[in-house]
Amino acid sequence: MMNPSPRATKQLSTPVDQLPGVDSQRAQQLRRLGIARGADLLFLFPRSYQQPAPMTSSDQFVDQRRVSFVGEIVELAEKVTQNGKHILGVQVQPEGGGCVRLLWFNQPFRKKMYNVGDRILATGQLKTTALNWEMIQPQTAPVGSNEFVADRPLPIYPLTEGLKQPALRAVMRQSLPAMIEEVDEVLPESIRQRLEVIGIQQALRDIHFPVHIQQAVAAQRRFKLQELLVLQLALAMQRNQRERTMQSPVCEPSGKIHARILNRLGHTLTVDQVTAIEQIGKDMSRSVPMNRLLQGDVGSGKTLVAQYAMLLCVANEYQAVLMAPTEVLARQHATNLQRNLAHSRVRVGLLTGGLARKERTQIEKQIADGQVDLVVGTQALLSDKLQFSRLGLVIVDEQHKFGVMQRARMRRDGLQPHYLILSATPIPRTIAMSAFGDLDVSTIRTKPPGRASQHTYLCTYDQLESWWQFVERQVVQGRQAYVIAPRVAESTDDDTIASAIGIYRMLSEGPFQHRTLGLLHGRLPPEDKERVLDQFVSGQIDILVSTTVVEVGIDVANATVITILDADRLGLAQLHQLRGRIARGGHTGYACAVASSQCQLQDNQRLQAFVNCNDGFELAEMDLRLRGPGDLLGVSQAGLPAMRMANLLEDVEFMELAREVSREILQSDPDLADAQLSRLVSQTLRRYGKSLQLGDVG
Ligand code: ADP
Ligand code: MG
Repeated sequence: MMNPSPRATKQLSTPVDQLPGVDSQRAQQLRRLGIARGADLLFLFPRSYQQPAPMTSSDQFVDQRRVSFVGEIVELAEKVTQNGKHILGVQVQPEGGGCVRLLWFNQPFRKKMYNVGDRILATGQLKTTALNWEMIQPQTAPVGSNEFVADRPLPIYPLTEGLKQPALRAVMRQSLPAMIEEVDEVLPESIRQRLEVIGIQQALRDIHFPVHIQQAVAAQRRFKLQELLVLQLALAMQRNQRERTMQSPVCEPSGKIHARILNRLGHTLTVDQVTAIEQIGKDMSRSVPMNRLLQGDVGSGKTLVAQYAMLLCVANEYQAVLMAPTEVLARQHATNLQRNLAHSRVRVGLLTGGLARKERTQIEKQIADGQVDLVVGTQALLSDKLQFSRLGLVIVDEQHKFGVMQRARMRRDGLQPHYLILSATPIPRTIAMSAFGDLDVSTIRTKPPGRASQHTYLCTYDQLESWWQFVERQVVQGRQAYVIAPRVAESTDDDTIASAIGIYRMLSEGPFQHRTLGLLHGRLPPEDKERVLDQFVSGQIDILVSTTVVEVGIDVANATVITILDADRLGLAQLHQLRGRIARGGHTGYACAVASSQCQLQDNQRLQAFVNCNDGFELAEMDLRLRGPGDLLGVSQAGLPAMRMANLLEDVEFMELAREVSREILQSDPDLADAQLSRLVSQTLRRYGKSLQLGDVG
């Protein structure tokens, strides 16, 4: 992002091997770090800084503190331990008195660097021993050599084999000052003031050579905000483009329509559902496409809100699509809609990959002719062949199961449908503001009333026998149970992992031979899946053994127990989704996570978090912390370049400021015609033009 302008010459565009103090070996190391030209070196920023170690007189020494001091070498001692480790000890008398022993391991060459009587500067972390002060592997330099400035923060750069910090720092010190002079400012003065950031040349100096750590922090602020501003400007440009060029069907929730739809939904809505519906109604009554995320924990009632949006669309004579991640869920949605819409004129169609050719052609034709109002389906809906007669709304259920780019595929020329995305995995605000192309967000926090309580247990395979007895007691009371196994079939090379087929056999021959069991997994033909699920819904099956295909969405109110085998193999969000299958009606729910034999229950943070917390939003945050933001939902899916400076999880305030400022910029200059903005605009297009299809805006 921070490429200098094309005017830049000389040092910035010089190949690394021609920079001062860089020989061919060093150049090769630098190239391994991705540095080909001077500019790449300039924008290789420190990962962090080593705290300064200020000059300290020996009467001020404190255990564990990083200090520098000057002293005289009084003794050298060298030793090789039994296992061949070389130890060099250098005894130094600091100027203020006392004694410090400097120790190095396996650096025999160092011995030549020190002579008794020499005065040296040493920098490192102090450690007290019984008699003495010690410093392990300190940095040293002859007094007055200026080799390092001990009271400044030392930059820590990314390294590669053979290249050490002091060498890289030396290259930086020699090459950067001249280059920095050549760099042009990207942000106009007024924007810098608004963001409260320093100029680019000062920021470059301070990020590489800070005198105080605060200078480095201010420099980081400048580059983070620049990076986020470029991102937000790109998103704002995209939004502008969308709003200027895209027309969407206006679906107005008139009083009459609103009342009629609420009547169909059949529940008194929760406060959060009402708010979400209002927000969606407002969005859909504009001729600009809605782009909204509806997030809410498992069982919070997102489907009802989605149904409202669909019916609002149909009432305005447009077609609506609901895309679900699995065939099972798509069928369930279709059944519910058909039930809610019995005795109405709304026609519901189902389109999944499992349909026979003939059925599929038929439904496709009905969609194209406009004989179907609501289309429920799976990814099969993304087929390029599918034509709608007047598509007004696309809803994607359980968005985290799809790629983000996929949903863009349903956007066509002509009228653009409104978009609503449902997710039970909350998306951090910053991610929603960025990776998802500037989504608006509605959140459902409260659960519908009348929810029974739920208990979660952890157990091991040894305890399963008594757990099955508990499950049996629930079944005796008329309830139903899920048993979840991570894989479909047993595998020959690793039979320690539970399989649905294996567990089904074991349970139906053992503890539940007198019960009706069902088996569900992704490899069954669609009609079998449908039959098994129907039987479970209607109560003919007592215990459903399944893979995680039931993870999302399945809604069977009479099911009260779920047993999750080898639970440590599943992610927190997934476990929570599975647990969301039970206690959906008035009966108390019981979930049991069974740890695999390799799992140390006490140490497994994920399983511990799972039993101790029942809030999907909190769990999602813990999950992020436990996994790190690496595979954060959506970021890589969205196909945007990774952030270099900013941290999407932590820099929330920066992101919000950048978003505000980007909108201000576009508001006062919608065509970005101001010459002062030209560098910023070209940087934005260079970085995001392709991934966000910005065309030649600005
Ligand atoms: P999710 O957000 O996980 O998709 P669902 O939409 O499946 O949740 O809702 C879970 C259950 O709660 C369903 O059985 C649904 O009928 C019920 N429900 C939703 N909203 C309400 C409400 N306002 N009052 C009572 N029950 C509701
Ligand atoms: Mg749902």
